[in-house]
Amino acid sequence: MSDCIFCKLVNGEIPTEFLYEDEHVVAFRDASPLAPVHVLVVPKAHHRDILDNVPAQTLASVVEAIKTVVDTTGIRDSGFRVITNTGKEGGQSVMHLHFHILGGRPLNATFGEEEL
Ligand code: AMP
Repeated sequence: MSDCIFCKLVNGEIPTEFLYEDEHVVAFRDASPLAPVHVLVVPKAHHRDILDNVPAQTLASVVEAIKTVVDTTGIRDSGFRVITNTGKEGGQSVMHLHFHILGGRPLNATFGEEEL
């Protein structure tokens, strides 16, 4: 999608450093981090959200990306959170499927507005 910011990041039109890349997904740091580690795992193909016909291979790559990111950023053992905000009331602002990986500080266990 030509007007999608994550499509532009994925295809290199907007330069960013990838912490992980394979055939199906990339991972890069969130521009407005909410935790010491805040990385986005983003499928290369444009899917609107988790319900938008995402192939199993892509979801397998998402898991591989998460494993790599939590290892390379050192948050695997301390714990972390993976979130995919979906739709308006789910807090999704970029309409290209992505998974937030958050860690590096204690994360509130509630799902209130103030905390991811
Ligand atoms: P969401 O609100 O779940 O759709 O998350 C979108 C995320 O994308 C937000 O956390 C933004 O900070 C992040 N974001 C938006 N533009 C960029 C960008 N150019 N590079 C990195 N992260 C971005």
